[in-house]
Amino acid sequence: MIIVMKGSAPKADVEHVIKLIEEMGYQSHVIWGTQRTVIGAVGDERGKARLQSLEVLPNVESVVPILQPFKLAGREFKSTPSVVKVGNVEIGGDKIVVIAGPCTVESEELLMDIARLAKEAGATILRGGAFKPRTSPYAFQGMGKEGLRLLALAREETGLAIVTEVMKPEDVDLIAETADMLQIGARNVQNFALLKRCGEVGKPVLLKRGMSSTIQEFLMAAEYILSEGNYNVVLCERGIRTFETATRFTLDLNAVPVLKKLSHLPVIVDPSHGTGHWEYVSPMAKAGVACGADGLMVEMHMRPEMAVSDGIQSLKPEMFRQLMKELGPFCRAAGRSL
Ligand code: PEP
Ligand code: MN
Repeated sequence: MIIVMKGSAPKADVEHVIKLIEEMGYQSHVIWGTQRTVIGAVGDERGKARLQSLEVLPNVESVVPILQPFKLAGREFKSTPSVVKVGNVEIGGDKIVVIAGPCTVESEELLMDIARLAKEAGATILRGGAFKPRTSPYAFQGMGKEGLRLLALAREETGLAIVTEVMKPEDVDLIAETADMLQIGARNVQNFALLKRCGEVGKPVLLKRGMSSTIQEFLMAAEYILSEGNYNVVLCERGIRTFETATRFTLDLNAVPVLKKLSHLPVIVDPSHGTGHWEYVSPMAKAGVACGADGLMVEMHMRPEMAVSDGIQSLKPEMFRQLMKELGPFCRAAGRSL
């Protein structure tokens, strides 16, 4: 349920309503607005009638049900788009944010070269997995702690914010000490213990859509993080499984306007995993901007032929520079800047 307070409601009345909601056994989530404050009461649906009675209070304007199952991620709770701050970078504002870097952190020299290039070409966030979810247990699993150290080094030199993947709830604290943003990968989108832990820690989260997740399941995964009080969630469309085999996944760009309509959370597009081939990355990156995404996540490598993972979908330096140049007009056409 949403409790909409009157525009003139003093803070004490809002706090009184919060107290009553919590006494009834509900979680309260407050959006302090300039026009009016709204309070989301989230919990057992069966107690709706009791919440409805809050309408008798003097500064309560209305008590309305939230119809969608994603209570906090949806537009019913918050009608205006959210902006998520990652270091000094804002995702969901006027600017299209480009996150770039290797699939995996491989070595200091390589990561530094990639970070310098990303920065110089106009990216603002550096990506790179230190802990990698690999389909095969025999494949390289990432550099772990040493990878985090290298990411921190790259941030120190370039000023880029960093995002890196977290796979287990017990790793969240360690990774959150270094990362500016925690990535939850497609394979972990329904790892509910991980989602909750990332919600508790409060760091911005980049949540990737599962390759078999419906849009509703994807938003319910985001809801797990929000319900722990962490509203700094960015959704990432990264391709789904279909019958098509010509590309690694099918980048579901339909999801971008649908997510934008249903949710206030920022949405970015990952054309690297979405296509699985470097040749298709640039056109689909542009398409992502054109259909309303707030940013892009692109894999890039100095020597993709030598990459330990996802080399085939990684852009070479000159291709990445070219993409960044070509993106400008698309961003402007979409009413944004780069
Ligand atoms: C990645 O970003 O390198 C990755 C593993 O992505 P996804 O979880 O989308 O497969
Ligand atoms: Mn990858």
